[in-house]
Amino acid sequence: MNAAPIAFIDLKAQRDRIREQIDAAITGVVEHGAFILGPEVEEFEASLAEYTGARHVVTCANGTDALQLALMAKEIGPGDAVFVPSFTFVATAEAAVLVGATPVFVDVRPDSFNMDPVSLEAAIDAVAVTDLAPKAVIPVDLFGQPADYSAIKAVADRHGLTVVADAAQSLGGSLHNRRVGSLAELTTTSFFPAKPLGCYGDGGAVMTDDDGLADTLRSLRFHGKGSNKYDNVRIGMNSRLDTIQAAILTEKMVIFADELDARDRITRRYSEALADVAQVPVLMAGARSAWAQYTIRVRNRDHIADALRKKGVPVAIHYPRPLHTQAPYRAFPTPTSGVPVAERLAGEVLSLPMHPYLDETTQSRIVDALRNAIGGNP
Ligand SMILES: *Cc1c(COP(=O)(O)O)cnc(C)c1O
Repeated sequence: MNAAPIAFIDLKAQRDRIREQIDAAITGVVEHGAFILGPEVEEFEASLAEYTGARHVVTCANGTDALQLALMAKEIGPGDAVFVPSFTFVATAEAAVLVGATPVFVDVRPDSFNMDPVSLEAAIDAVAVTDLAPKAVIPVDLFGQPADYSAIKAVADRHGLTVVADAAQSLGGSLHNRRVGSLAELTTTSFFPAKPLGCYGDGGAVMTDDDGLADTLRSLRFHGKGSNKYDNVRIGMNSRLDTIQAAILTEKMVIFADELDARDRITRRYSEALADVAQVPVLMAGARSAWAQYTIRVRNRDHIADALRKKGVPVAIHYPRPLHTQAPYRAFPTPTSGVPVAERLAGEVLSLPMHPYLDETTQSRIVDALRNAIGGNP
């Protein structure tokens, strides 16, 4: 039996592939010394704008700040309702609270795991009988697949909501041949190391086609600066992408398309090998996922996860508890119909090792261990 340890996300394999380029990028910044908003930041913003099709990319310190900056740019705050899925990473709802707004939890679809536009309508109805003003919706592209932006935008337009896409997991994905970054008025992303495009620390960005919003975002990320940093025209944040991280990201962009293709191939292999024993991921028509995670649904999930870990297969639960059930978020509104799908998914989802460098032999080990665990065989 091959007992080589299996990585859940293998950042070392990527590092080995572009070691010289990364080292040179880091050394270059250390040499010139422009650590804050050095030339590499603008260079990376331009290359990501070109890649995504967004007119403007404004980088910042992390994906949570990116969400907060997007809400601040739209002047969303106390008394405003921000609709978010309950089945997501906590940052999506946290950003709304951080600007003083009220997150309102929306259910997701059982197939795509993404925001259900029908539940969004129900959540807007629930808010209509309160003093809250519905202002924004933050669909999340969970596990890499874009949300159903045309359906959500139709609801948002009817109610005058801004759409802020939380694309922390989906950079590189697309919907009907439009890349993530150009699917909503504002799109946020994260360069946390484990994301599809990750740096060597924290990083994030906001994307928009709107010139005015881009100017506001550049001011907001720098203490609300005006014409210079000692001219302060609004309350802002200190949220910039380090120059070193930008230089690293520019090198990672070079291999990004190739990595996304590898993720597609690995997903196909998983799904072909597992479709008869588990609910494998479902893509909407016209969607391409960045496959940040490969997440299946199984009955008896905790037992299967234990069995896999015992066999040396690292797995993760994204996410074990929907946000509306967690203590700091329990008081916030939900639709009167509740969020039953999020509650059910939390007990069934299981994420398998997923990264562009997962070789076929290792993947077969994972598949065999999973099939055995599901079949109850040793
Ligand atoms: C990772 C993540 C974030 C936050 O990104 P950070 O860079 O860690 O702050 C926000 N939303 C989702 C859905 C995420 O997965």
